[in-house]
Amino acid sequence: MPQTNSTDIAIVGAGVTGTSILISTIENWIAKEKKGSITIIEKSNFLGPGLPFNPEQPKTLRINDPFNASDIVAQEDYSFFHWLKLENDKGNPEVTVLGVGDKTLDDRFPPRAVYGKYCEWAFKKAVTKAIYHGISIHLLHKTEVVDVLKRDENWELHLNNNMTIKASNLILATGHMPSDHYVEYENTPGFFATPWQDLSHIPAHEAVIVFGSGLSAIDTAKKLHAQAHTGKIYFVSQSGALPAVKPPRHNQTVALQFLKRENVDKPGLTLKEYLHLFQQELNLHTTTPIDFEKKLTTQLDPKSWLEKNIALAEKGVVRTWQLLLDEIYFYSLPYAWKHLSDTDRATLMNHYFGPYLKWAAGTPLANAKEILALLESGQLEIIRGAPQIHTTEKGFELEFSNPPRKIVAKYAINGTNMGHNIDRNPLLNKMRRRKFIAKASQGGIKVDPFTYEVIDPQNEKEETHANLLSAGPTIFGSNPAVYAIEASAFAGRDIGKAQASILPHSLFKQSSKASDTTNLGIGQINRIRCA
Ligand SMILES: Cc1cc2nc3c(=O)[nH]c(=O)nc-3n(C[C@H](O)[C@H](O)[C@H](O)COP(=O)(O)OP(=O)(O)OC[C@H]3O[C@@H](n4cnc5c(N)ncnc54)[C@H](O)[C@@H]3O)c2cc1C
Repeated sequence: MPQTNSTDIAIVGAGVTGTSILISTIENWIAKEKKGSITIIEKSNFLGPGLPFNPEQPKTLRINDPFNASDIVAQEDYSFFHWLKLENDKGNPEVTVLGVGDKTLDDRFPPRAVYGKYCEWAFKKAVTKAIYHGISIHLLHKTEVVDVLKRDENWELHLNNNMTIKASNLILATGHMPSDHYVEYENTPGFFATPWQDLSHIPAHEAVIVFGSGLSAIDTAKKLHAQAHTGKIYFVSQSGALPAVKPPRHNQTVALQFLKRENVDKPGLTLKEYLHLFQQELNLHTTTPIDFEKKLTTQLDPKSWLEKNIALAEKGVVRTWQLLLDEIYFYSLPYAWKHLSDTDRATLMNHYFGPYLKWAAGTPLANAKEILALLESGQLEIIRGAPQIHTTEKGFELEFSNPPRKIVAKYAINGTNMGHNIDRNPLLNKMRRRKFIAKASQGGIKVDPFTYEVIDPQNEKEETHANLLSAGPTIFGSNPAVYAIEASAFAGRDIGKAQASILPHSLFKQSSKASDTTNLGIGQINRIRCA
């Protein structure tokens, strides 16, 4: 007989988003002296880090946003810096090496593996606190939710271990989807669909093609470099453009004038109007006029680009208009996006978003220096263009037309951005086919981007489900500003608060406590991560 448990809230996915929601819900319940049950289900070994922050990845891979913009929840005793201080005081060599000062680090971009350990700590801390306060927590890792059904007003989750969970509220924090590009090569020998899988069996001397030249491509080169790869590495991308470079330290900020919320959160807003406001904003902050269309699409050759940007970053300089681009990600774009037509959204995504990210989401200085050294040594080459790709017994043969050129490599790695097709996650695919969720026009799950409530595709008025939420990269098409730890923390804050305020009316309407046999006690918390 399959075992069934009941829970007030089920969270699927224990990456940064699921963890932020968990912590925030627990903290809100404690503050309101509420007691309920939460179940969190994660298919990997780790509770907390999710895909980007696996604690076992090479230490040379760094976080791309600074440590002080990377708190899993906005609460001092859960902050990344708080954890760094604790570990520094304990003499943890992974942390002491980072140069932890009173308020800052020597370099604002510590390793992603170290960040992953902070996520695990924050997860564990919240669970320990919850149990102490009588909140029932049920943790399932190495467990996948394979299907979801609706029974009365509850969700019934089917797990790959034959267990069933009945949940009054369901939160989908299933995270990243694989890239939408080069899907046709995923079963070709020598092709790696993502750089985040094990690359160690690529022979060190072999040439490797990396599709893309953004942050993921940079990490791929760094990963290969860390495993002492000596063969040629080719970055191949349409633009051939590398991201901007972020200095180790700076404290400049900029306030939005034209693009602030009240100017863009307007029904009927068009992309043309938004771009006009954008140009006005640029003019306000720069002494010499910038033609941003030109700026977004032209770039120096990669070596000169890096040399110039490294020199600026070494002086701690961030251009004002770059700060502006950074600022609009959270504080303007989501409000404008809400009102844009599907056609405008498509134009924004296809024409502007890629170059925008290269400028706004830069790479840390240390990464840029490593890439420059690889370029200077001739091991790395960046090729611009859209080649014809042939797969032969020699591997991948890429033919470029302008100028004519052919490159061959046995191995190719997809280093383009993560994708947005919900059908690439088997659970979301099933839920879409059951008509519980729908695709947003640019991918991801269709939700109300400000409450995270999932739109019910069976509701003619496009109203939301009362008890189904989703946040993180899974909702990209509903809000493009979801690819950041800060975005996950915003979701955690808002969902945690909302879950506390709806108690006890809807949350407890059908639920019962999680079974004692599956509820972990404090003594068991050390074992939440499997060896
Ligand atoms: C390589 C990379 C590096 C990044 N670096 C930074 C950075 O330095 N700074 C920054 O601010 N942002 C960074 N980001 C942005 C990042 O997207 C978000 O910050 C955040 O990590 C998203 O977390 P998540 O929990 O939503 O997704 P994920 O990390 O993808 O977590 C989702 C979890 O759900 C689980 N899951 C999925 N389906 C199921 C299922 N059916 N059953 C059970 N479990 C399931 C997965 O195993 C996974 O652990 C990076 C993104 C990538 C891809």
